[in-house]
Amino acid sequence: MSIVDHFVAGRPYAGSGDRLGPVFDPALGVETRRVRLAAPEDVDAAVAAATAAFPGWRDMSWARRQEVLFTFREALNRRRRELAEIITAEHGKVLSDAEGEIARGQEVLEFALGMPHLARGGYSENVSTGVDVYTVRQPLGPVAVISPFNFPAMVPMWFLPMALATGNTVVLKPSEKDPSAANWLAALLKEAGLPDGVFNVLHGDKVAVDGLLDHPGVQAVSFVGSTPIARHVYERATRAGKRVQALGGAKNHMLVLPDADLDMAADAAVNAAFGSAGERCMAISVLAVVDSVADDLIGRIRERIGRIKVGDGRRGCDMGPLVTGEHRDKVAGYIDEAEKDGAEVVVDGRGVRADGPAEGFWLGPTLIDRVGRDSRVYTDEIFGPVLSVVRVRDLAEGIHLINDGAYGNGTAVFTTNGGAARTFQREVQAGMIGINVPIPVPVSFYSFGGWKQSMFGDTKAYGEQGVHFFTREKAITSRWPATGTREFDLGFPQNA
Ligand code: NAD
Repeated sequence: MSIVDHFVAGRPYAGSGDRLGPVFDPALGVETRRVRLAAPEDVDAAVAAATAAFPGWRDMSWARRQEVLFTFREALNRRRRELAEIITAEHGKVLSDAEGEIARGQEVLEFALGMPHLARGGYSENVSTGVDVYTVRQPLGPVAVISPFNFPAMVPMWFLPMALATGNTVVLKPSEKDPSAANWLAALLKEAGLPDGVFNVLHGDKVAVDGLLDHPGVQAVSFVGSTPIARHVYERATRAGKRVQALGGAKNHMLVLPDADLDMAADAAVNAAFGSAGERCMAISVLAVVDSVADDLIGRIRERIGRIKVGDGRRGCDMGPLVTGEHRDKVAGYIDEAEKDGAEVVVDGRGVRADGPAEGFWLGPTLIDRVGRDSRVYTDEIFGPVLSVVRVRDLAEGIHLINDGAYGNGTAVFTTNGGAARTFQREVQAGMIGINVPIPVPVSFYSFGGWKQSMFGDTKAYGEQGVHFFTREKAITSRWPATGTREFDLGFPQNA
């Protein structure tokens, strides 16, 4: 069985540990390869490579660094399908969705191609007589990026282009569930001319992650994953003095008001709940609908679910399997629990007939009505194709319901009433809001991040905030010619 090695200092690296983790093809339900799980010495090797490469990369001109990233962008355009096939084979999402995630990652790369402009400093002449002040933004050094299984290309690409374009070097620790996309990106960057050691991939689990969080050579950590691990990463890495952005889990609500276009809302709910089998941090997992239109909307959603083709993502299906058998069983367990809690399972995904071998990690789209607000089905992030319906009286109760939750990633309102939408937008406590848009992932020139337990740290991913995260500003006050002074003065310097 083939082994996915680390990628350190420009080449595959077996490392010193002998621990391996299984990697499955979720549609086939079989282990197809194994991935190395780093030992502490492997963390040292990866950080050492990034540290050694930093001065050369930092000192390379903007023009040269941009040239490498432009070449990478062109190669990625040409070979996008190859990467999509790798993602589908390890994550399970359908090919078109895998290509979509690459495209969204590529948007950040294209944004980062404007970095010489984005990271420019400011200049103020003659702030005091003969004195000028200017700022420059400088890279941090080696940084760590730790990513989740659900976007093996897009999430790393929220950070890599931003970190590299600003002159940092990177150690990426991808999810051990679908590790191969990271190595493919590393090989393509090398082909594009990236110097060895500027981008390294370290595979592994908690040993690798904690090693990076504690390592004195790592200057900053960008993490995306579940809330308990995001909190751990934030606390541990900030204690070690690092700059940290840690994006966590979610429970995203879509509120449908009685004046909404119900067909539009039904299409949106189905896309946002069942796309990528619900394994998206911006997936809609709760449909909060005003009671007067609830039955009508549920009927329209049920009809659409009946048309979703579940199966192997390489066979032109709409929805693939879940990432592992263990995760599928966990998600299915929530449907059992909903039944026990007295909720009404309107569409049951257990026992779905999928276009693929029976061993695949299948679970069909599931719709559950009248989910109790104290049920774990409502409060937990399920991260699968399960859409819970909670009925509310009106806009105010819908907003209250959303604000009462622990998470604050994305949320959406469906309405034709501009005033209601404006109230929703102003009062709801979440980082990303959709108005008749179910998955409001900001484009690359805005920034991505949630509120409350969906994000720890105060700097979001990509966009302008990404530029700030990966650079430190220096303010320089200068006087030319240096004429010297005739008297000392212990007073605070005054402008004149
Ligand atoms: P996860 O938290 O299990 O894993 C994320 C990363 O942390 C992986 O690289 C993993 O190896 C590492 N990790 C796991 N357990 C660890 C531990 N005990 N100590 C240290 N490191 C550990 O998340 P996942 O299951 O891979 O991904 C799904 C989760 O990610 C969901 O909760 C989803 O909402 C979240 N997510 C959030 C966003 C966002 O932008 N907010 C985006 C994508 C995914």
